[in-house]
Amino acid sequence: MTSQYFYCNGMLPESRFLQFPVDDSTKRLMHKEKYWQLHPEYYALNADGTRNDGFICMSNEDALQAATNEVLELFKTRPDSFSFAFSPPDEPVLCNCPQCTKATNGGFEGEGWGQASDPYFTFVFKLTSKVAVSYPDRWIITLAYYNR
Ligand SMILES: [Zn+2]
Repeated sequence: MTSQYFYCNGMLPESRFLQFPVDDSTKRLMHKEKYWQLHPEYYALNADGTRNDGFICMSNEDALQAATNEVLELFKTRPDSFSFAFSPPDEPVLCNCPQCTKATNGGFEGEGWGQASDPYFTFVFKLTSKVAVSYPDRWIITLAYYNR
């Protein structure tokens, strides 16, 4: 599929209809210029101790609230928007903080196959529940494929 296809079908991130969760769009939830300096802990912890500005720490409750606020703000300022879509980068992204590591290995009562699905979808479900309080008629869209 081409970007022209997505455009014609109203599936781009800017679309007011059904958005398509393009890779690397979790950045829409955590704008670097807004959070990077003040809250580096909102971003995924690399194995070497640095932070990854392309991915979120899925276990940080304040990061979850900040991401939720971004979605709520979109629906508030664009009441004609029906969905908010996001997807992690197309690479094996993981957060190495203790909570995400625990979740990745079954600590959140998932199967824990050493993949990011447990912390990622726990984050998505929590975000969706928070948004649904104010906007139960909107859609949160993400992708389920390699490493999430
Ligand atoms: Zn983490």
